[in-house]
Amino acid sequence: MFGFIKKWRQDRIVKESWVSEDQWTQAFSRLPLLGRLTEDEKSRLRRLAILLLHQKSFSGAHDFVVTAEVALVIVLQACLPILNLDLRWYRGWTSIIVYPAGFAPQRTVMDQFGVAHQVKEALSGEAWQRGPVVLSWQATEHAGELDGSNLVIHEFAHKLDMLNGAADGFPPLHRKMHRSAWTAAFEPAFADFQSKTDGGVHTGIDAYAASSPAEFFAVLSEVFFERPQAIQAHYPKIYDNLRQFYRQDPLAGFAGAGFTGAGHGG
Ligand SMILES: [Zn+2]
Repeated sequence: MFGFIKKWRQDRIVKESWVSEDQWTQAFSRLPLLGRLTEDEKSRLRRLAILLLHQKSFSGAHDFVVTAEVALVIVLQACLPILNLDLRWYRGWTSIIVYPAGFAPQRTVMDQFGVAHQVKEALSGEAWQRGPVVLSWQATEHAGELDGSNLVIHEFAHKLDMLNGAADGFPPLHRKMHRSAWTAAFEPAFADFQSKTDGGVHTGIDAYAASSPAEFFAVLSEVFFERPQAIQAHYPKIYDNLRQFYRQDPLAGFAGAGFTGAGHGG
């Protein structure tokens, strides 16, 4: 009964959405990342995007105006990872803050002698535990272009990771997945990636992934959706785990769309 009422409410939100057909077309056309989706997947993505728009509040920082196009480009990409999961994966927080460009929040950090320092670190995005997702529009504007990096997917992957505590590269797994298989895929790959990065070996995966297991998971999630070939080539066990976790197989979609191979290797 409860499920029925929830669906009825969601249907009403979708029906009353302010987003016009033109606005959808424009937003989709900015995102080659979504090109591999079937019509059915695109329409489910639209529905999720409307519901996410309804659930979260957008605000612009430093006088940035969050236009309909900005909001749509963000929610469409944010909903891609949960296309075959559902919106409950983004529960427990409410706001998305967009800066015009990078931002440098002032932070207090303790050094090894226990002395506090004020530091300003330049960021293009961040996700707070039970708090907002913060994005720089400058860094988001060209996400979704299949170059292997995607700030929106990165920050929202942190949100999935934070569902079971602080971000550590270990999001809550589905019932038929095994924690041991996840660890067996990610731990040696993270060590391997760190040594490859130290050795200057190019993998097509952003070196930032070497900074921590949490960043490794977030960066590999970007690559999974943008350049799945790179993960399959270097870390097939991770590809398999991410395929089970996201319940999507982007490589199959790329093969179908004639994207196999050329231009995505390395
Ligand atoms: Zn990160």
